[in-house]
Amino acid sequence: MSTRLFNHLPIKSLNGVGLALEAKLQKLGINTVYDLLLHLPLRYENRAITARIADVYSGQTISIEGHITQRQIITSKRRMLICTITDGTGVAALRFMHFNAGMSQGMIPGNRIRAYGEIKQGKYGPELIHPHYRLLSHPQTTPTDEDRLTPIYSTTDGLSQTVLRKLIQQALQLLQQYPIDEILPIPLCPWLPAIDAALSTIHYPPTDIDPLLLEQYQHPAQQRLIIEELLAYQLSMQFIREDERKLQAYPLNATGRYMTPFLTQLAFTPTAAQQRVTKEIKLDMQQPYPMMRLVQGDVGSGKTLVAAMAALLALENGKQVALMAPTEILAEQHYHNFKAWFEPLNIEVDWVSSRLQGKTKQAKFDAIANGQISMVIGTHAIFYEQVQFKQLGLVIIDEQHRFGVDQRLNLWEKGRDQQCYPHQLLMTATPIPRTLAMTVYAHLAISIIDELPPGRTPITTVVIPNTRRLEIIERVKQVCLSGGQVYWVCTLVEESETFEAQDAENLATELQHHLSSIQVGLIHGRMKANEKQQIMLDFKQNQIQLLVATTVIEVGVDVPNANLMIIENAERLGLAQLHQLRGRVGRGSAVSNCVLLYQAPLSKTAQARLKVMRESNDGFIIAQKDMEIRGMGEILGTKQIGIADFKIVDLVRDQAIIEQVQQLAHYLIKHQPHHARILVDCWLPYREKYINA
Ligand code: ADP
Ligand code: MG
Repeated sequence: MSTRLFNHLPIKSLNGVGLALEAKLQKLGINTVYDLLLHLPLRYENRAITARIADVYSGQTISIEGHITQRQIITSKRRMLICTITDGTGVAALRFMHFNAGMSQGMIPGNRIRAYGEIKQGKYGPELIHPHYRLLSHPQTTPTDEDRLTPIYSTTDGLSQTVLRKLIQQALQLLQQYPIDEILPIPLCPWLPAIDAALSTIHYPPTDIDPLLLEQYQHPAQQRLIIEELLAYQLSMQFIREDERKLQAYPLNATGRYMTPFLTQLAFTPTAAQQRVTKEIKLDMQQPYPMMRLVQGDVGSGKTLVAAMAALLALENGKQVALMAPTEILAEQHYHNFKAWFEPLNIEVDWVSSRLQGKTKQAKFDAIANGQISMVIGTHAIFYEQVQFKQLGLVIIDEQHRFGVDQRLNLWEKGRDQQCYPHQLLMTATPIPRTLAMTVYAHLAISIIDELPPGRTPITTVVIPNTRRLEIIERVKQVCLSGGQVYWVCTLVEESETFEAQDAENLATELQHHLSSIQVGLIHGRMKANEKQQIMLDFKQNQIQLLVATTVIEVGVDVPNANLMIIENAERLGLAQLHQLRGRVGRGSAVSNCVLLYQAPLSKTAQARLKVMRESNDGFIIAQKDMEIRGMGEILGTKQIGIADFKIVDLVRDQAIIEQVQQLAHYLIKHQPHHARILVDCWLPYREKYINA
């Protein structure tokens, strides 16, 4: 059978898969036999190791073996089968709530039994509830499956490990009967086993396998799958990029009509990095296919100005520009900035929000549709409301890691004018190490703003226990009285927005009580948009000196006069988030400080993480450390496609092979493009929607 046919063999072609089972498998994302084979074990249990009953302890998962001393069925509260066994060192009980006559009759006192499960401390000694068990009526000569590592899979309600395991065995047999063609360029990676051998090893480890290799994902069988998956992911990204190159866009040639007066009126000069990145954008936008560029720049590096300059390039060509930001507060702030920058140039700037209603809304939409408004700013309301553009030339997404790919593509699609797509500029402050960027952003061109605007003094960060609050409050007072401004961020992790708002309110009251000479403001997610807007404005104009806030101010907010930030429960936040929050200060020339308050005692990890914050102001270093301490998924957020969905790849663990995989990708595309497509099809069969986007 050819590879392609095998890949598409529906799951119901396996024996015993009826409608009900099919539905359950589909819940796990398994539609084809191949999907099932790629449903890889989460971990393995080692049932071959037998412990002495005297040695077992509560919580341990292990096998025990012994003679049955007693078998009883209790009928009091709940029917239960209890089988007591001994191995000479101690006595243990096997307890079954669900059982049938066959089971109880099989447990004949005197016979040997072997059981595997988690040890609980029962009234009369160790107990195993519903263990896996096997009667050892005959002396065992050949190894059985119990002597192998047992794979454990993620599953869903009503689908047992046993059923899953049996189905996978069936699929493996099918694979043996119809071996699929080799699609990797094996001469380049000769140490890798064939795919069928690799899958068989992983689902049904041979008895002599080294469990440590498996545990560390170092077994060649696992390496094969890791390489395949990474390769498939990278290839899919390259296909996206290739496909996008086949699309058309209006080439936009800068005239300088707006740019020249804009730069003259601007209060500062763009940094060399801002200029370089703008030039890269300019070259992209001159192409007849859509730009797909990601600008990475640390918090405070001045991405907004780059966005503005990119916007001007499009506006000079008579095109419209849409700028999408993840929060209302940020969209609002961008609106004010762009209005101040662009209105003197006679460019009509306006905003869109889900709050718009009735006639105002209609009037605004009409003005966008007929091209009267040329620069539109907003949250995701830009795409989900019925906004239609006249000729959208550029889409800018700020803090792109906050958006899902579909949201982004949606806006892009909205801007399509027959065959022509808008150019796209994405911006993010979440720097990731280069090898990872190669994988995660393989479909994007990347520009890096590696320089902060001049005159910034680095933020000094201190880590202080909550018990020293009063000192901090005193410090706040000093800062405010000497003309500075302060954010006090109140965070509750895992609690509701309501609790968080309540907490922030209490904190504001408490602080106002201590600081009667200072104007304390409050902002949180439960407030109405216009209230938030007013508070931010008051803070910006220094009507408010101390702003108590929830993490609603996490991204983008820019008030250069603010020079002290206090973050509560800092130990509970991720480093990326702390860095973003802290980035709200240090935007002016005054010395800025950040106080990370924590609730003692701190765990080792928390100590390590807060130390990173104290020692570095560099988002890039922080991201790398964060990743080392916590793993990748959390940094990127689950919204990034693919990232959370890897079946076997772990970008941190597998970093070292990323470069090699890149070479394989080039080779395949050049010499075996047909295999490249098959590989993507195997691992990411449901990605079409993105690929053709
Ligand atoms: P971020 O990259 O975090 O989005 P912003 O665009 O908000 O950063 O810029 C941070 C601050 O730096 C703003 O107050 C902005 O006006 C200022 N800024 C940006 N570029 C320059 C520059 N070239 N010179 C001086 N200040 C600048
Ligand atoms: Mg920003």
